[in-house]
Amino acid sequence: MAENWYPIIDFDKCTGCLECVEFCPHDVLREEDGMPVVVNPDNCVEFCRGCQRGACEFDAIIFSADMEVL
Ligand code: SF4
Ligand code: SF4
Repeated sequence: MAENWYPIIDFDKCTGCLECVEFCPHDVLREEDGMPVVVNPDNCVEFCRGCQRGACEFDAIIFSADMEVL
């Protein structure tokens, strides 16, 4: 799947609601100690943004590709 496309959690904004873990059907994210962890970045689907736009209400997910243009 995506070589340089995976979510990064901003833990300053993340509330630990775990909606993103529930949302992603590709096992990219899992819960560890009550917080989301990116365990399988290679499983992330390029340009998906489903967890960012469809799950996270706290603007706490960015993508590796976004970092490069900041
Ligand atoms: S962008 Fe899509 S595939 Fe990647 S972690 Fe989010 S929901 Fe899963
Ligand atoms: S949906 Fe957003 S706020 Fe909730 S656990 Fe995931 S990253 Fe954190």
